[in-house]
Amino acid sequence: MRIIRTIAEVRDVVREAKHRGTSVGLVPTMGALHEGHLSLVRRAREQNDLVVVSLFVNPTQFGANEDLGAYPRDEARDACLAEAEGVDILFAPPVDEIYPDGFATTIHVAGVTEVLDGASRGTHHFDGVATVVTKLFGIVRPDVAYFGQKDAQQVLVVRRVVRDLDLDVRIEACPIVREADGLAMSSRNVYLDVAAREQATALNRALDAASARHRAGEREGEQILEAARAVLDDAGIHPDYLELRDAETLAPVARVEGDALLAVAARVGAARLIDNHILRGDA
Ligand code: AMP
Repeated sequence: MRIIRTIAEVRDVVREAKHRGTSVGLVPTMGALHEGHLSLVRRAREQNDLVVVSLFVNPTQFGANEDLGAYPRDEARDACLAEAEGVDILFAPPVDEIYPDGFATTIHVAGVTEVLDGASRGTHHFDGVATVVTKLFGIVRPDVAYFGQKDAQQVLVVRRVVRDLDLDVRIEACPIVREADGLAMSSRNVYLDVAAREQATALNRALDAASARHRAGEREGEQILEAARAVLDDAGIHPDYLELRDAETLAPVARVEGDALLAVAARVGAARLIDNHILRGDA
């Protein structure tokens, strides 16, 4: 595995590989790798000749009061994990390689960015995501890029950018990887102390309770949400949001007929965590 820090060098390696007809898979990450990330890497490894993992804690997607400074960083550990999964290139640029002096362009996606995390964290968040992902696509020129369904709204934002800007990349969304007790894996779980770690299990338990009510035939959004709310209340969690939205458009859903995204975000101890389930229209 090569660790590469410059755009020019990644470009050279990829250009040469593509010249030989090599397929390229990209897994964008902010590092602090866990099994969730590694599931994306494995999928990329199965489907491509050349696998590039990017490791970049993207400052533009963090708000002023968010955890950019505290975000867990351990490049040496990440490099070991990536290497063990057969990654070919770990692209770990410094901030000024991605945002040099004079950088002035932002990719702003309307619509799907305006709700859920876009409303809760502010529009800067998905502007930062869309901008850095577009840059990574331009730098690596992957055939396929892999994203986790854990960040369901991010997947929709990235798909929108790809469609609207005619980017020649296929987006593959991979299922959420969870701890044994159901907590969605996240780099931010390291912020949880013992009590908060226990409390955090309520997020997926709440989504489970709502999913079960949906599977039992309930279609009224309020009733489904109520099942989740009861679990969160019981755990003393006051979510930033707990919402049902159309799984493709993120339009609000009052009655669940098609596929719906049931999404939650909450501060638990020192971490802000997100999780979601898809309620299938045919369930
Ligand atoms: P991050 O490093 O948090 O930006 O995540 C990088 C990628 O890994 C994103 O596409 C995430 O959606 C994905 N990811 C993070 N956690 C999980 C998880 N628990 N299961 C599946 N994918 C995940």
